[in-house]
Amino acid sequence: MGLIETLTDAAKLAQKLDNIELVKTILGLQQQCYELIFENKNLREETEKAKEALRTKESLVFRNNAYWINGGADAAAGPICSTCWDANGVVVRMHSAVTGFAHCKNCDTNVPIDGRVRGSGYGSSSVIRG
Ligand SMILES: [Zn+2]
Repeated sequence: MGLIETLTDAAKLAQKLDNIELVKTILGLQQQCYELIFENKNLREETEKAKEALRTKESLVFRNNAYWINGGADAAAGPICSTCWDANGVVVRMHSAVTGFAHCKNCDTNVPIDGRVRGSGYGSSSVIRG
């Protein structure tokens, strides 16, 4: 039996005893439990977001004026805009612009990109995660 159910049973027993003060106290405890459950849920969600941000941060490698996921080893690796990531923690894929440059459609940054990286999915989509 959970805490809320136990408190509900205790409130019913207090009602049978016709003890208004005890019923109010138990209902107050029940309300505090609901608040703790809500706070706990929010903290779990924040923890999960922080873990995800850390996993993303650990996977990014700065090279050729941009970030690359896992060092740019696969087709979905980037380039990722360093301005958006460094300022806001947002992963935004950059698109090909003028030859030798990558463009971020989110913050309008243009950076020179070494031609060696262009065959690795360069500029194939937009925002990965917001
Ligand atoms: Zn950007």
